[in-house]
Amino acid sequence: MQVTVDTHSGFCPGVVSAIRKAEEQLSESETLYCLGDIVHNSEEVSRLEQLGLRTIDHEQLARLRDMPVLIRAHGEPPSTYLVAKQNNIEIIDATCPVVLQLQKRIKRVYEDSRTLGQGMQIVIYGKKGHAEVNGLVGQTEGTALVVEGMQDLDKIDYTRPVRLFSQTTMPVDSFRELAAIICRRMQNREDFQYRDTICRQVANRIPHLQEFSRQHDVVLFVSGKKSSNGKALFGVCHEVNPRSYFISHPEEFQPEMVEGAQTVGICGATSTPKWQMEALSKTIQEIFSKK
Ligand code: SF4
Repeated sequence: MQVTVDTHSGFCPGVVSAIRKAEEQLSESETLYCLGDIVHNSEEVSRLEQLGLRTIDHEQLARLRDMPVLIRAHGEPPSTYLVAKQNNIEIIDATCPVVLQLQKRIKRVYEDSRTLGQGMQIVIYGKKGHAEVNGLVGQTEGTALVVEGMQDLDKIDYTRPVRLFSQTTMPVDSFRELAAIICRRMQNREDFQYRDTICRQVANRIPHLQEFSRQHDVVLFVSGKKSSNGKALFGVCHEVNPRSYFISHPEEFQPEMVEGAQTVGICGATSTPKWQMEALSKTIQEIFSKK
């Protein structure tokens, strides 16, 4: 049996940079607070916890004083920075530059629209309550409308100007489909503009994963259960290769999964550490070398 770890899977640059910042800080101090999971992967989070990382939520942030706090790649709304300032918290900002640019763009459109009194609706295609989306909505003082799909499109007022943006990890095809429908429904089509703000670190992985899944008899997709990117990319693998399995912990691997397979491909999400995929590969090789 040939087991191959996908060289294109693993952390995206935004996550690599956030983890590097955390490690740098932890090499100088015993404890570092991080607002939310630094990455949607419990194994990697516990590795960093052993170095001193402590994950906190917004309520805990509000009670914290005089401590550095890391903001992860997803970014945060302006209200978080305000709380930090009030509590004398030093922000170690690991917001991904791609997300940061999107936040600034949305803020600019929102402020311009307010100044000009255009009654603009800012619409964000994304997952309601997702940290990145909360950070984006925060740029509009909470006024942006979040749409998760076709089912939410009736909430848009098509008589007013609309600007559509996307969470960075949404599928490109669905975004374009959504934009086309909104455009058709607009009372005045010139009042509608959209920006494809999807991160290519994720989007470009789709065609690659399709090819990778086709090339292997069985695909083992390693990802944390909470990762929305993980769920989406696993769906891509499963659609091409029905013998694809989602593995969030090494113990979930069962030898029956690869029964009769000549080739096994191990891949993962943008939040999956390389070491986790390699550890699974090693486990499989050890099991089968004994058979
Ligand atoms: S997926 Fe893209 S936008 Fe999101 S953290 Fe990674 S590099 Fe940044």
